[in-house]
Amino acid sequence: MRATILYGPRDVRSEEVEDPRILKPTDAIIRLSATCVCGSDLWPYRGADAIDQPRPMGHEYCGIVEEVGREVKTVKPGQFVIGSFATSDNTCPHCEYGYQSSCVQREFMTGAQATLLRVPLADGTLVPSAEMPSAELIPSLLTLSDVMGTGWFAADAARVRPGSTVAVVGDGAVGLLGVLSAKLMGAERIIAMSRHETRQRLAREFGCTDIVVERGDAGVERIKELTKGIGADSVLECVGNQESMLQAIRSARPGGFVGFVGVPHGVKLGGAELFASHVHLHGGPAPVRRYLPELIDLVWSGKIHPGKVFDLTLPLDRVAEGYRAMDERQAIKALLRP
Ligand SMILES: [Zn+2]
Repeated sequence: MRATILYGPRDVRSEEVEDPRILKPTDAIIRLSATCVCGSDLWPYRGADAIDQPRPMGHEYCGIVEEVGREVKTVKPGQFVIGSFATSDNTCPHCEYGYQSSCVQREFMTGAQATLLRVPLADGTLVPSAEMPSAELIPSLLTLSDVMGTGWFAADAARVRPGSTVAVVGDGAVGLLGVLSAKLMGAERIIAMSRHETRQRLAREFGCTDIVVERGDAGVERIKELTKGIGADSVLECVGNQESMLQAIRSARPGGFVGFVGVPHGVKLGGAELFASHVHLHGGPAPVRRYLPELIDLVWSGKIHPGKVFDLTLPLDRVAEGYRAMDERQAIKALLRP
């Protein structure tokens, strides 16, 4: 089958590799209907994460079950399924509390930018749809595997409520879908921080009411101006660097909430500033599995179209072009057709 392997900074290749096999009785093998490149794939692609050996890439997936291990009960060959980027048994205490991405049996998925994928803990990780989706639904369903679920978690963790004023730091796919999530949760005002015209347009389409192009402390100043000096009720941090994290914390009002979902790289927070801020922080790898049934319904019923974040579609073997376009910010997100 075709797979995507990262060899080193900016060296990603599409290669022929052996098909995956069932390794544990709780595994499933799925044939991907579509997969994609994630903003978080750009960290190792840019060399920000060290790679000691060639790494199979990809953790966003949906597709049709080919084969299941003998202990798999709820997932059957022929079903269309979506799963989280983090596997879960969906039965341990952390799963019961809704934190499936901290499941005691969690593994982070990898190798999904491929034709076939082995999914561990299939019963707890995969959610089958009631019917076979139409081709038009596939991109939106694919986003539920990570970016839409992550944007939703950012908004949920930041306690977006009807009438809330929300600021979103980051205009990648997660930030944009954070805007969409905040809108669905009833936010009255949604301020997107973006200096990129295509992304601003999509943010507006998803429900943002104001755009702030300034960054860092100047960005914080603008948020304060727009909120009569108070700050936002909820801030969604969707980048993961020092500047974006401080921008998020400083944009929230005292007593406000920051949902942080950007994978932190070099973020250091000072105790004194946190103490003085009176801000609630809640974030981490999104428990996408918790939200999947609800989000599948929202896509299926046509209430949301998160697949709009894909502005580039490529055949799987041209995956390197997708990485390059996203790295150069020429594409928001690249969809790959196996
Ligand atoms: Zn669990």
